[in-house]
Amino acid sequence: MADVEGLECWTCTLYGDPVAKGRPRFARRGARVISYTPAKTSTFETQAAAHLLASWGDRPPLSQPCELTLVSVFRRPERLRCKHKRPCECDPRRLPALNAVDLDNCCKAIADSLQKRTAEGRSVIANDSLICSLHAVKVYAADDPNDEPQTQIRLCWGPAVEAMR
Ligand SMILES: [Zn+2]
Repeated sequence: MADVEGLECWTCTLYGDPVAKGRPRFARRGARVISYTPAKTSTFETQAAAHLLASWGDRPPLSQPCELTLVSVFRRPERLRCKHKRPCECDPRRLPALNAVDLDNCCKAIADSLQKRTAEGRSVIANDSLICSLHAVKVYAADDPNDEPQTQIRLCWGPAVEAMR
């Protein structure tokens, strides 16, 4: 993205298969029923939060309206890989991922990772309610061993974001 007047941006990439936030599960504790996040989502959010914060550095948590952009890159299915030995018509670029993953649930997992606080109280954004603009894409990786499953994340803020209203 080109530099835009009044816009600040931060980007970070999480490597590994994108994770969609699982539905809350419920468990009985005596007379009470409690809800909890499934283990896979919880582990992902903890690890993602640590990586995002390492990239964010010592800055205080972002506490102004922001825009979140994410590109969820899934492993390319074997049937979509070129197996020809001769020149062919296969398109090696990234493709829209028509898998069963709900993209909005990928957004939720990333938004929660961005607001997740460490034991010292640090996080990238103070609260995910600050995300006022959202753009998300899901694709299969390119037919190229260098394009691994990953989530590309971009946060933008500043007067240009606040002027969108
Ligand atoms: Zn081919």
